[in-house]
Amino acid sequence: MTIVVTDNCTECRFTECVTVCPVAAFRQGDDMVYIDPNVCIDCAACIPKCPVHAIFDEFDLPEDKQDWIQINAKNSESCPPITEKLVPLPNAENRRTMLGYGGE
Ligand code: SF4
Repeated sequence: MTIVVTDNCTECRFTECVTVCPVAAFRQGDDMVYIDPNVCIDCAACIPKCPVHAIFDEFDLPEDKQDWIQINAKNSESCPPITEKLVPLPNAENRRTMLGYGGE
């Protein structure tokens, strides 16, 4: 089993998730974060922290998001660890609204 970040994070990168990870499994990409499957212990603490519902247990991944398992694994190899919250990306609030989570 693994936990994966999906496309809802793109252009948001709110990073509430990274602050609750007990093992520093998150990696910082240019426009989103990823989870390194070799580090993640599948605790699921990060899943409810995402304001745009971008994080899934792989068993709950919709069919059209299955590619994100490999994308997280691959991009985690080249992206640095992130453990502290960042300022969200400039378009984050617009994107949250567009995704339907603006009122949360
Ligand atoms: Fe970290 Fe737990 Fe999320 Fe894995 S599931 S990335 S260990 S908070």
